[in-house]
Amino acid sequence: MGNKFIRFGLFKRKLYVFFARLFGSAVEYLTFVRQPLRKKFTLFSMGVLFWILVISSISISALVCLGHESSTTLQYLLPQGRATQQIIRDVQDLRVDGYRLKDAPDMGAIMGTTEDSDAGIKDIRQLLYAMAQGGAVNDFNGGDKLAGHFTVEPARGPGKAFIKSMSGLMNGVKAGLDEISGIKMQTLSSKAGGGKLEQALAQYDAAISKAIAMSNAYSYEISGAYSADRHKIGAYIPIALLVLSAAVLMTILLLIVFTSTISNAVIKPVKAVTGQIQSLSRGYIDGSKRIQPTSGDEIGRLAIDFNALMETMDGITKFKKAIEEDEDLADVYSRLGNEFKYYGFDGFTIYEVANSQNKMKPVYPIALSGAGISCNPEIIENCFLCRAKKTGHVISSIEYPGICKYFLQGGEMEHICVPMMLGGTAGGVVQFLAEKSGMNSRHKEAIEGWISAACRYLEESIPVIETKRLMAALKESALKDALTGLQNRRFLQECAESLVAGVLRRGKSIGLIMGDLDFFKQVNDIYGHNTGDAVLKETAEIMKKSVRASDLVIRFGGEEFLIVLMDVGQGESKGIAEKIREKMENTKFKVTDGVLKKTISLGISEFPLDTESFWQCIKFADVALYEAKNSGRNKCVRFTKEMWKDEQF
Ligand code: GH3
Ligand code: MG
Ligand code: MG
Repeated sequence: MGNKFIRFGLFKRKLYVFFARLFGSAVEYLTFVRQPLRKKFTLFSMGVLFWILVISSISISALVCLGHESSTTLQYLLPQGRATQQIIRDVQDLRVDGYRLKDAPDMGAIMGTTEDSDAGIKDIRQLLYAMAQGGAVNDFNGGDKLAGHFTVEPARGPGKAFIKSMSGLMNGVKAGLDEISGIKMQTLSSKAGGGKLEQALAQYDAAISKAIAMSNAYSYEISGAYSADRHKIGAYIPIALLVLSAAVLMTILLLIVFTSTISNAVIKPVKAVTGQIQSLSRGYIDGSKRIQPTSGDEIGRLAIDFNALMETMDGITKFKKAIEEDEDLADVYSRLGNEFKYYGFDGFTIYEVANSQNKMKPVYPIALSGAGISCNPEIIENCFLCRAKKTGHVISSIEYPGICKYFLQGGEMEHICVPMMLGGTAGGVVQFLAEKSGMNSRHKEAIEGWISAACRYLEESIPVIETKRLMAALKESALKDALTGLQNRRFLQECAESLVAGVLRRGKSIGLIMGDLDFFKQVNDIYGHNTGDAVLKETAEIMKKSVRASDLVIRFGGEEFLIVLMDVGQGESKGIAEKIREKMENTKFKVTDGVLKKTISLGISEFPLDTESFWQCIKFADVALYEAKNSGRNKCVRFTKEMWKDEQF
């Protein structure tokens, strides 16, 4: 049961969502949200034009209908009515003429009346003719005085029938009048025939009555049509007004809806973009802020592009912050490499250039050794063979096929080599690779985009790389002896703690050998300082070659060296010291006028065997050296407790 309800509820929800979406898309469709701006405004103008046409056609048809109705009334019904009324007046005059004839005292009166009635009948006939054919009619304005003219249109349907019957009747009226005047004239001369006269007058009167009735009927019909027309016109006006107001209202409504939707779709994202630009100009970038694209037109596109721009800027800002906080260059290179991985290249290598040594080495991917690179390995020893390094320009085989002869994979790969310009010269090169097969113009365009994005990251990282490289060089120079290339005493101070900890952890020993050249001062005095320097340099080399790579040879003072032997067994150090002493004894240093021989005295101690303090142990080696000097020089002396006379350390 419950399940059924839940299912029904879900169905209702789905139905609601469906209709809401349908409504949404209908509104989107009708408000041209997805259309480009030009089309949007064209459609909008067409819509406005359509409604203007609707309104005007409603107004025009209303006016045409009204004009038609009123013209029928004005040009047909009213003149026909007026003419009919004039006929009725004329016919009534004729009735009077009949009675006047009957009562005429003499011939003169008969003649006068007959003249009047003939004029009346003529007027009626003229009116009937005008009504039948159409034309101008004299308007007597209800009396005998001419008031002007009016025009009648030819009679239709019932009018024609009226004119026809009326014309026939007029013949009868004329004959009746003639009969009355004839009888009257006879009566006047014979003094008889009064009965006949009465009869003729009665007949005449009946004809007149018929004519009047007929005219009245027609007049009535006309006024009926006239009031029907007036009713029609009266009814038309509110309908026309209603339809017109509805159309106007609809137009205003649609205009409001469309204007607000279109302007909203245009203004909202533009405002958002402007807002973001304003905060950008104030130096504040909020990468999390996204503009909601509300339309599918250029403005929507602008919002999408702007979001992408913000994302890139945000990405670059974060990237820069991260590399600034990175420990060393390797971290920076791997972070750069991680960014480049997002692009669709088929491979890439970051090379670091050591300008002082004319060398370059692949630094990312770290696993890449000189053998795994896509270029002739010669470039590693001579960085000036790399075209990008040499020229400081981007070198692209897509643009210039076969541009670099040191690129080895030219058969299957395209390469784009971007120099990293540090202080005017290329301090590094990033080589991007793309497979040749399937390369088309779209792919090339994409590569162009990736390269320009990669360049942005490179540009951002260059100052950081520059600083980090300088710092590294500075650190190295501070910890290294410039003359011999050996580490110096400061270096030992920095790394002593971790060296000691490692050895103690492993349960091993450190052998300490302190060496000092015998009578070195003489070399300077006899051969000069340069020869002294050369001897020092060679001595350093001899020492380095005598120990393992994991051991340290430190220039401890002027011509004093300390050798730190890592993880040695007990007594092992003495043997190494002896080896060095022998080598020195047998070495012939070249001097201007031949060769020079020099000996060395060495003192040995062992940590932690002799003392648990590393630095005291060094002192013990020095004490042993002193002993070696005192006991004749050119010898190795192992420290013993008896040598330590001064307890104050
Ligand atoms: P011994 O140690 O056997 O007692 O005699 P010594 O002549 O070596 O005595 P001492 O240690 O007093 O002299 C060290 C000399 O080393 C003094 C100095 O002129 C020289 N010296 C120190 N550093 C350098 C350097 O960097 N270059 C050169 N050419 N000479 C140096
Ligand atoms: Mg000396
Ligand atoms: Mg000395």
